[in-house]
Amino acid sequence: MRAVGQNDKKWPFGGVRIGLAVLALASIASGCGPDGSAPVEPAGGQPPLKAPPARALDAYATKLRAAHAARVAAAKRWGLKRVPLTAPPPPAKKPRITTRDGFEVDGHRRLELPPVFTTVPTDEKILFLTIDDGAEKDPAFLRMMSELKVPYSAFLSDYLVKEDYGYFKEMQDRGVGLHNHTLRHPYLPALSYARQEREICGMQRVIEKRYGERPVLFRPPYGNYDKATLRAAKACGITHVPLWNEEVFADHWEYREWDRDLHPGDIVLSHFRGREDWEGTMPDMIRRFLDKVTAEGYAVARLEDYL
Ligand SMILES: [Zn+2]
Repeated sequence: MRAVGQNDKKWPFGGVRIGLAVLALASIASGCGPDGSAPVEPAGGQPPLKAPPARALDAYATKLRAAHAARVAAAKRWGLKRVPLTAPPPPAKKPRITTRDGFEVDGHRRLELPPVFTTVPTDEKILFLTIDDGAEKDPAFLRMMSELKVPYSAFLSDYLVKEDYGYFKEMQDRGVGLHNHTLRHPYLPALSYARQEREICGMQRVIEKRYGERPVLFRPPYGNYDKATLRAAKACGITHVPLWNEEVFADHWEYREWDRDLHPGDIVLSHFRGREDWEGTMPDMIRRFLDKVTAEGYAVARLEDYL
């Protein structure tokens, strides 16, 4: 990942990087003859006739260039200051996720309760975007995220989603993971085990019925939980309880940690909200999110790829 300095403020950002990748591919393609020797370059820099594998690499490079050009255009169209960075490929071996210190409940390990965490262990400069509840159903947001190719995960509460299940079906069709955020968004620690289980297992059933997949990720409303919450979640088939380390709004950021900074692997929270709930639109929130993470050299990765 390249560091961002003063000189990178120019538009379009990232053009240099893809250019280098294409050059590297071209040199791989023409670097060696069949016997491993370097081909002789004719005077004037004309490359020698290319073998089929070189043409395949050329096609790949052309595809990369086209994909990048589309991202540059999309970034411009949606009013971003910079082109979002591309996340590295998903890890071959998933990291071991453990509960963050201070976030454990009694008997967490012994009962093998799902880990509660705010950051995914990784050395890559990546972040994960998670969006909660489901009040705002803005078609422009779906278009924006597809065009920018920025991944995110949705944590849904049925009392809001049921106003328009189709909106979230379209989101799922675009590759977004739909996860559990309870039926009615209660403060769970105030409820008995049985009522917590109804909230969590009930939402499992709604998502399975509407979207064909039973979630394994669960986020308790307000990030509040107790031992009964995690026991119920586990009984409902939940394997991970991702919380968040930063929260982004349409007009500002909030941080869990004193350094008020982003860290590799941090999970960022936001909400499906519109002008009646905060100072802006969903695209405004995404602009605030992406402009900061890109300026600080972070790419946005898909949470599900790491769990
Ligand atoms: Zn919520």
